[in-house]
Amino acid sequence: MNVKYLLEKMDIQPKKSLGQNFLQDPNALEKIANAADIAPTDTVLEIGAGTGTLTVKLAQRAAQVLAVEIDERLLPVLHSQLRDFPNVRIYHADILQVDLDALLSGRPYLVVANLPYYITSKILRHLFEARNKARRLILTVQQEVAERLVAVPGEMSLLSVSAQFYGKPRIVARLSPSVFYPRPEVASAVVRIDVYDKPPVEVPDEQVFFHVVSAGFGQKRKQLKNSLGNGLAISHTAAADLLMRAGIDPMRRAETLSLEEWATIARLFAAQGAHLFVQ
Ligand code: SAM
Repeated sequence: MNVKYLLEKMDIQPKKSLGQNFLQDPNALEKIANAADIAPTDTVLEIGAGTGTLTVKLAQRAAQVLAVEIDERLLPVLHSQLRDFPNVRIYHADILQVDLDALLSGRPYLVVANLPYYITSKILRHLFEARNKARRLILTVQQEVAERLVAVPGEMSLLSVSAQFYGKPRIVARLSPSVFYPRPEVASAVVRIDVYDKPPVEVPDEQVFFHVVSAGFGQKRKQLKNSLGNGLAISHTAAADLLMRAGIDPMRRAETLSLEEWATIARLFAAQGAHLFVQ
């Protein structure tokens, strides 16, 4: 199916505001579907089904596909492209408003998506905050975001800490702008995140852990004693003391810390009465 031809026939102009860069290259679609390792018994949630090119590949491999799309202009296209696949359910919705626990009702599932780039971080947070999390995520994202997801200490960010707290991300393919219609301005990459049953580090409480990490990354390029002090509403001396007890030089910067180091700070912070500081 030629995506450009299909959209022109339906008189649909792709909307930049909805991140509409449709995959049109059969090899790229095949690569993404294969990276998902879908078993015939699997349920797959697709976010932003678009014109259904990826949805078809998923429907050929999975037991069931739940395809969510926000743009109502694409619904007739989706229904027509997927008419031979009774195992696909199409939902007209904003994924950020979808209650994933209710939609999946406790079933195990995978997520496969060529994400709308303008809300990548929000969608990741939504997926990670669900009680019933996907077992694996296969996400096409901007290359720069992919690099951040797999970053190592020295280049960490709130996004890398969150992704690596919930799962093991790795880049499985790089995609040039030419595989999309219209072409995006940036290169893309496919990231596979295998979600952990439980986090790889021991934390007192996820909320406290993310409160500490967000505080640490709250002010760019500041030394940790300052960013943590400001973000946790404690004095810079108390923050330096907390860091030293964690075995961390208070002059280091947030991007240099490993997950284990964040977990150590969170454990000590919780032990000294984090409830006094967490809103
Ligand atoms: N999966 C299709 C493909 O690969 O060709 C489309 C991918 S396109 C990058 C992103 C899709 O997400 C668009 O169809 C867009 O309308 C949809 N979208 C954007 N924001 C959304 C949201 N909040 N909830 C659900 N879908 C959304």
